[in-house]
Amino acid sequence: MQDTRLLTLSKELQLLGSVQAVLSWDQETYIPNKSHAYRGDQISYLSSLIHSKQTHTEIKQAIETVLSQFSLGTNENRLARVVERNYDLATKLPVSFVEKKSKLISGALEIWGEARKQNNFTLFEQTLGQIIEMTKQECEYYGYQKTPYNALLNLYSEGLTTDSINPNFDILKTELPKLIESQQPVKDIHFKISVAQQQVLTERLLKGIGMNFEQFRQDSSRHPFSTTLGPHDHRVTNKFTVDDIGSIWSGLHEGGHAMYEQGISGEFAGTDLGSNLSLIVHESQSRFWEKIIGFSDEYWQANFELVQPFITTPNITVEQFIKWVRRVKPGLIRIESDELCYDLHVIIRYEIEQLIFTNQITVSEIPEVWNHLYKKYLGVDVPDVANGCLQDIHWAHGSFGYFPTYSLGNIFSSQVLEAYKQFDSEFDTTVRSGNLGKIADWLKTKIHSHGSSLTPEQIITSIDQNRLNPAAYISRLKARYL
Ligand SMILES: [Zn+2]
Repeated sequence: MQDTRLLTLSKELQLLGSVQAVLSWDQETYIPNKSHAYRGDQISYLSSLIHSKQTHTEIKQAIETVLSQFSLGTNENRLARVVERNYDLATKLPVSFVEKKSKLISGALEIWGEARKQNNFTLFEQTLGQIIEMTKQECEYYGYQKTPYNALLNLYSEGLTTDSINPNFDILKTELPKLIESQQPVKDIHFKISVAQQQVLTERLLKGIGMNFEQFRQDSSRHPFSTTLGPHDHRVTNKFTVDDIGSIWSGLHEGGHAMYEQGISGEFAGTDLGSNLSLIVHESQSRFWEKIIGFSDEYWQANFELVQPFITTPNITVEQFIKWVRRVKPGLIRIESDELCYDLHVIIRYEIEQLIFTNQITVSEIPEVWNHLYKKYLGVDVPDVANGCLQDIHWAHGSFGYFPTYSLGNIFSSQVLEAYKQFDSEFDTTVRSGNLGKIADWLKTKIHSHGSSLTPEQIITSIDQNRLNPAAYISRLKARYL
């Protein structure tokens, strides 16, 4: 990219953001118990510093200069568009509103945690009501077409609307319950495996999918996540539970996110084109490794010998192991869900969020509506709010409109697979032979390298001209589960 004032400013903003990311990563992993307060001050100081730089008139001038000099289709023009989007989103909210909301949220996380622990929705109800009221106000500041909820969807994937989501989710709502109903119970399998052994195993599997360990670390935390601390510093965390091998798939999932970031072209390193990636495309990459590869027959035919020593149930064959990996049972908790039920958990949250933002339900009605929808879509009775509407952190965090990106990522990951098969018709053989680098290289060229130099829409249509479309996803699930 050509040197411009905007490029310099973009690099400075990214540098500050990466310092903030280091502080947050440390807070989630290694910080001592009593050290959170000052860390909070450090992070919020950086946030306001970044906000003031991001909304400075100098940025606006630099954007206009670049837009007048570089035409559509150039990286310089796209950089200006990306910075402009962030500038617009940041300047639409009054500073006093941002401060008030961030105070509300930082207190809310603790109140939500306590309400969940005590299994008591009333404890969180008032705070949740305040968050919702502020978020409704936020939609008005941003502006929207058709429904306020669209203003929130747009935050997580540029241009996303309920009109583009609904046809996709309608098909999932029809097809998934039929698949779930057709499943048979599966023989249980037990393991004896320490945390240290899981660390070694997951790192070996991550090397197998092509992770560059010279620019990567895996640590542990309460909830797995991935983050980028700099253009050559990609981190994931995993949750290791003794005698449980779930860390294999959370490792592949977070590793898939990290591989995406590792694959961004060096040309965009440390600029806004090396970040601001669409959550839908991001999630498609984590699901690709976790579900399409990590739940496949071929992957386990190649890797079964790595887990076999930890199985304590006698005489388990690779076929039985794969069936166990893909066992299906409707349950209460989204993050523990199997492949077929997962999207229904997401759709329930999506429907509730729409009811909230079209004023069709009040805060106090959320638990009742939640329980009703769990019965309707998954056939399960929700015994209490801790296993119900208080299970996720997202609403306490003010992140409304985030959930749908998970399922849209699932849908897109199968479209990516179809496109890959055009290039390599022997996909199954490639996975069985353990030559996953071939797949990783293709993903890097087709998706990762672009960073956000292409819009989410451009990336999606470069893979499938029909845009987001669940046909490939549903036929993949049918082939696997019927
Ligand atoms: Zn993810």
